[in-house]
Amino acid sequence: MTITNKDKTYVAGTYGRFPLEIERGCGARLWDTAGKEYIDMGAGIAVNTFGYCDSVWADAVKAQVDKLQHTSNLYYTEPCARLAELLCQRTGMKKVFFSNSGAEANECAIKVARKYAFMKNGNEEKSNIITLRNSFHGRTVTTLAATGQDTFHTDFGPFPEGFDYCEANNCKELERLASTGEFCAIMMETVQGEGGVNALTEEFVHLAAELCEKYDMLLIFDEVQAGNGRTGKLYSYMHYGVSPDVVSTAKGLAGGLPMGATMLSEKVENVLTPGSHGSTFGGNPVCAAGAVSIVERLTDELMDGVLRKEQLIRERLAQCKNVLSVTGKGLMLGIECTKAGRDVANEALDRGLLVLTAKNKVRLVPPLNISDADIIAALDILCDIIDS
Ligand SMILES: *Cc1c(COP(=O)(O)O)cnc(C)c1O
Repeated sequence: MTITNKDKTYVAGTYGRFPLEIERGCGARLWDTAGKEYIDMGAGIAVNTFGYCDSVWADAVKAQVDKLQHTSNLYYTEPCARLAELLCQRTGMKKVFFSNSGAEANECAIKVARKYAFMKNGNEEKSNIITLRNSFHGRTVTTLAATGQDTFHTDFGPFPEGFDYCEANNCKELERLASTGEFCAIMMETVQGEGGVNALTEEFVHLAAELCEKYDMLLIFDEVQAGNGRTGKLYSYMHYGVSPDVVSTAKGLAGGLPMGATMLSEKVENVLTPGSHGSTFGGNPVCAAGAVSIVERLTDELMDGVLRKEQLIRERLAQCKNVLSVTGKGLMLGIECTKAGRDVANEALDRGLLVLTAKNKVRLVPPLNISDADIIAALDILCDIIDS
């Protein structure tokens, strides 16, 4: 049986996979089982922060595998403590809860918001959370409910209550919702990834921060995709000059190993108490060692490089006559063109280029250290497809 046939026979059919069997990678390049080479502008959906076979990351992971792979959270381990210290030092947050995925990081954020409200009010009255339409927060039943897209609200009901959706960048609607006083938090992505790579406006984010102050709500950013240097700042809220209460992240954090993190500000640092939350694999030493090697290298210099590469991509796309708009920030970009994103992605695959889609757009989230030469080679193929 081929890999594809075996997978189709035995793996649950939840994914519409591309017809590609990947064997190995190096940098931003991949090879399939037949030896054909691809440039990867998707990086495993914004996960492989420094691309494939990144030796610094691989050495850190290998050294930890040889030493200690798992202990459970009954004991202390160095990589977990070091990663939490690093994240707090770089963000000003006070505590971190570790988990294994974006959905789980958001579940923690939701639990913190609800418990914060419960501790303040002594009841569940003010426990609702505002999220945005077109958002994406994960696949667990609760994070599906938090996701502001009707297509995700079927088949698996009943869904937990407690989420109301506001249109992104609609200041009037946000003010109207907040003023009801029913909410304990606003949770949003600064750049909606799955929803079409749309960035929130300064005005909207600043208003959200003000309303959180005024109505005692927590300001929560879902930085699962936009975090960890992806947009040209360590965390994307840093573009807006606001101070969140909770930040969740995952995808790029451990450079290709499963790890989620929920960072807590001073206001909520003591909301979670022994027994109130947990995760068997959370803060796993191997994943944490990988993450330390990633976060230590998300320097200002690297961020400058991300922003410079964004410009390189934008300038090249400006020469394509069929590109209608380019949205997003840093190396998280959405391209609207006259062809459907999915058609572009299929053609690109034939031509040795991997791109993602988001809604009807082409989405580019390459490794942060992709070379200019690889960007130019990828964009030559992409622009040729878009303009043909
Ligand atoms: C991918 C994503 C999630 C879900 O992450 P998983 O690791 O798949 O659970 C949540 N929020 C955002 C913004 C994402 O991009």
